[in-house]
Amino acid sequence: MTRDERQAALEVIGAEVRACTRCRLHETRTQAVPGQGDPDTEVVFVGEGPGLNEDREGRPFVGRAGGLLVRLLASIGWRRDDVFITNVVKCRPPDNRDPQPDEIAACAPYLRAQLRVLDPAVVVTLGRFSMQAFIPGARIGQVHGTTHPVDPGTGAANALAFAMYHPAAALRSSGVEQSSFEDVSRVPSVLRAARKLRDRPATPAEPAARLQRAPETPAPAALPGTTAAVAGGPIPTSHVAQADPAPDDAAQLTLF
Ligand code: URA
Ligand code: SF4
Repeated sequence: MTRDERQAALEVIGAEVRACTRCRLHETRTQAVPGQGDPDTEVVFVGEGPGLNEDREGRPFVGRAGGLLVRLLASIGWRRDDVFITNVVKCRPPDNRDPQPDEIAACAPYLRAQLRVLDPAVVVTLGRFSMQAFIPGARIGQVHGTTHPVDPGTGAANALAFAMYHPAAALRSSGVEQSSFEDVSRVPSVLRAARKLRDRPATPAEPAARLQRAPETPAPAALPGTTAAVAGGPIPTSHVAQADPAPDDAAQLTLF
């Protein structure tokens, strides 16, 4: 599938989710939260369900837990737009209560459809409910930071699952927060392992390419009476050199 086909397929799923009345959570939602991210990503993060802010905005992980998720991603050199982020249930459980088994079951076809389209190499589970969907019978305290094969029945036909604590749990406990930073630091190597299993050649370095492209951003149009060289200026060599990721960074930045 091309990027455009993936994007279109995700939009079809998203439209179905926004109109969905398959479980009682539709009665109390402001809006459903299908998920968001790069349709070409190799890594999908799956949380539990929308909270207050997500229900208002229609986007996943935009509240405090989302802030921590963004910091976790930043610690490995990734941005939220580099991955795809979604949830086990797409509508907010009232008062942020746990999603019920029948709600999770009713919503599962949407996650399955998203995973079929995205075909990720790695599914990062955030919290207990997401973990249960991909690593049945596991206990979060034991499996966080570990990698497991994924049942193709989940929609992810050829993926590894990597379990993490929910960012909201990390906000409540500095020990859990520390574990979460340790756990996320392993995600790039999990992705490399998953790629080997999929026998998929590494894709061109996207974030690195973006960094290298950044200095080439067109200079503002020259004002009348000035020259383009004055308005934009040549790209200083040092700037280009800075844009070249250091070897360590490169190892992380070539992951997309
Ligand atoms: N918690 C989740 O599990 N998902 C969100 O989208 C936000 C908070
Ligand atoms: Fe539909 Fe899922 Fe929302 Fe329930 S939680 S109404 S199944 S989209």
